[in-house]
Amino acid sequence: MFDVIIIGGGASGLSASIYTCRRNLKTLVLTKDLGGQASNIPDIENYPGFEKSTGFELMQKFEKQASSFGADIRYEEAKEIKQKGKLFTIRTEKYDYEGKTLILAFGKTPINLNVLGEKEFKGKGISYCSICDGPLFKNKTVAVTGGGNSALNTILYLSEITKKVYTVHESNEFRAFATLIDKVKRIKNVECIFNSTISECKGDNFLRSIIIEDVNTKVKREIQLDGLFVELGSEVKVDLIKNFVKLNENNHIVINENCETFEPDNNKIKEGVFAAGDVTHLPFKQVVISAGEGAKAALQADSYIRGVKSSFIADWGLRNKKE
Ligand SMILES: Cc1cc2nc3c(=O)[nH]c(=O)nc-3n(C[C@H](O)[C@H](O)[C@H](O)COP(=O)(O)OP(=O)(O)OC[C@H]3O[C@@H](n4cnc5c(N)ncnc54)[C@H](O)[C@@H]3O)c2cc1C
Repeated sequence: MFDVIIIGGGASGLSASIYTCRRNLKTLVLTKDLGGQASNIPDIENYPGFEKSTGFELMQKFEKQASSFGADIRYEEAKEIKQKGKLFTIRTEKYDYEGKTLILAFGKTPINLNVLGEKEFKGKGISYCSICDGPLFKNKTVAVTGGGNSALNTILYLSEITKKVYTVHESNEFRAFATLIDKVKRIKNVECIFNSTISECKGDNFLRSIIIEDVNTKVKREIQLDGLFVELGSEVKVDLIKNFVKLNENNHIVINENCETFEPDNNKIKEGVFAAGDVTHLPFKQVVISAGEGAKAALQADSYIRGVKSSFIADWGLRNKKE
């Protein structure tokens, strides 16, 4: 039996675990990986106290600090949440874990293309993170699919290091800042293919080509390339929390200023369930914000367990066991 079960080992979940452990709460962190999205950022320059760090190094420090305070970090995916009275059970592929409180900190996941060959060539030519994988495609030919700001930033970046960038977008214009669109359209090694979707990814051990289809004429053609960057944005995977907590229209978990969640069908607080970081409806998805929200969720979980008002809680100094 754990006092707190945290789902997600990114900035928000690991930060939360530092705080719950320092409040002397028996804490389990269930996560698919170490550090979440931040681990893929080559350079973080805006995390206070670290002028420059790779995301992975920063997240390793989070993990080390959490472990040093006693967080039990297990690399298992949470598959199901069940509630019985005031207790929660989390099912993973290995075990069922019971907890008195939950902190949902499982972030967002890049949106897939959902076409033939995508699964096969994921990590073998198909990437969802240009800053992580872009350097692997120096002087090669790549394609980018997506039409928002993030896709256009990816195109700009890749155009500087690769030989040629195809952009495949399903509508007849990008949906991004005008200045970005203007820049992209003036780059010589970028070829924009509008009104088209990718219908298949092909290759052998590695991605070699994509099939694109004109949305109006349905005519298909094959483009030979070395890499494909999928920039369709990211989403909250709702399977775990549908009908468990309240979500907004974009499927983000709705929280109040104390990181408390709500019942799915009314505005009552969902007792014992807290959320933090990118998975919530709050704006500005950043590492420092996720870490801060994780700390808040943890202190709120502590006050819930102890039955005291959150405004009296501070974390300077470890909580005395007898307290
Ligand atoms: C390309 C890119 C560049 C960025 N650059 C910056 C930057 O320079 N500076 C900055 O501050 N921010 C940056 N960000 C944003 C920042 O990475 C995120 O805001 C932050 O990492 C979110 O942390 P999180 O803990 O809320 O979620 P995540 O980092 O998404 O962590 C969620 C964790 O939950 C785990 N998980 C998911 N589902 C389950 C499950 N069912 N069971 C168990 N575990 C699960 C995941 O494996 C992951 O470890 C960038 C983001 C991207 C995509």
